[in-house]
Amino acid sequence: MATYRIGVLQGDGIGPEVVPVAVEVADAAVRAAGLSVEWVDLPVGIAAYAQLGDTLPQYTVDALSTCHGWVLGPVEHHRYDPGRGMRNPSGTLRKLFDLYANERPARSLPGVPSRYAGVDLVVVRENTEGFYPDRNVLEGDAELRLTPDVVVSLRVVTRNACLRIARYAFELALRRADLRGRPGRVTAVHKANVLRRGDGLFLECCREVAAQFPSVGFDDLHVDAAAYFLVREPERFDVLVTTNLFGDILSDEAAGLVGSLGLAPSLNAGDRYAMAQAVHGSAPDIAGRGVANPAAEILSLAMLLGWLSRRHGDGAAAEAAARVEGAVCAVLQDGVRTPDLGGSCGTVELARAVRRRLG
Ligand code: NAD
Repeated sequence: MATYRIGVLQGDGIGPEVVPVAVEVADAAVRAAGLSVEWVDLPVGIAAYAQLGDTLPQYTVDALSTCHGWVLGPVEHHRYDPGRGMRNPSGTLRKLFDLYANERPARSLPGVPSRYAGVDLVVVRENTEGFYPDRNVLEGDAELRLTPDVVVSLRVVTRNACLRIARYAFELALRRADLRGRPGRVTAVHKANVLRRGDGLFLECCREVAAQFPSVGFDDLHVDAAAYFLVREPERFDVLVTTNLFGDILSDEAAGLVGSLGLAPSLNAGDRYAMAQAVHGSAPDIAGRGVANPAAEILSLAMLLGWLSRRHGDGAAAEAAARVEGAVCAVLQDGVRTPDLGGSCGTVELARAVRRRLG
């Protein structure tokens, strides 16, 4: 029996509320599937800064390199002061471990009140470059304040990053087609009519990769049109692939379509490592009240188990992932809901209900 080492980084705000209960659920599922996991608690975020003077201590980074994957809770990045050396662990880890693909599914779940039924799409977001200033330069960051009134933000787009994110999207569409029993489709989302060079290169790469996947449908949309069609007829989408900032925005929009950010999981995947991380932030408006929805974090861990299963050819990890997803769906269908979904149950209560479902 394989033993996986999985790092646990709680993060800020609601992180210490949702991450530990999500780990408890995942642990129950891996045991039930006959898998062995060593959970490795590691310091990160504001608590790590207070204790060790660093939001991402080197000790944590070194330990992560010995892990098969990890879960990172949300970080309260707007409170981080770069002048005091407070790095954003999320962006830094994505870049450091080359977690180039951010996979963010949005799916209508049975029994969950939402604006639409029948949504089943995934936003695949490039994760290592684009408009994010902490990822684009070797030192400092890629936003320059030239005068008190003028700021220049540098955006990076490279052929290698575009090709590999496009490949990731098409491979995902193939897997989904197998599962759903109908052909997959990838939609490239861009703004090549204005960002002619950067998004032009992105689109060129998507078209090149599309030609290598003839069984997967392909089309493209300008990002403004994509935002419009997402709220108008989200059922038409399967896999959307896009650059970093557009993916960040559209995936929150997609989470709103199916009920709540509290249900939106995500995986940051590279070729060697993967990091589970819910789409939502630290939710300062509800932190400390015990009402945050832990489902997004639980489902993110299920995505990590799915990735481990593909990377290591391990059927037991796939079984654990399926058990977690099934239990979350069953509990929501039973009407066990946190306040973001109109219910009154708390974080721990929902997680406990999922654990009970796992047996
Ligand atoms: P947010 O996602 O934290 O919150 C947006 C809204 O969604 C809030 O009303 C919040 O209460 C609600 N919400 C979020 N998660 C929920 C959950 N699990 N259950 C129930 N409701 C939930 O976004 P924000 O307020 O823009 O950002 C707050 C902080 O989080 C900022 O510092 C931001 O930089 C950071 N952030 C971090 C990440 C990350 O670490 N992955 C992602 C986004 C934002």
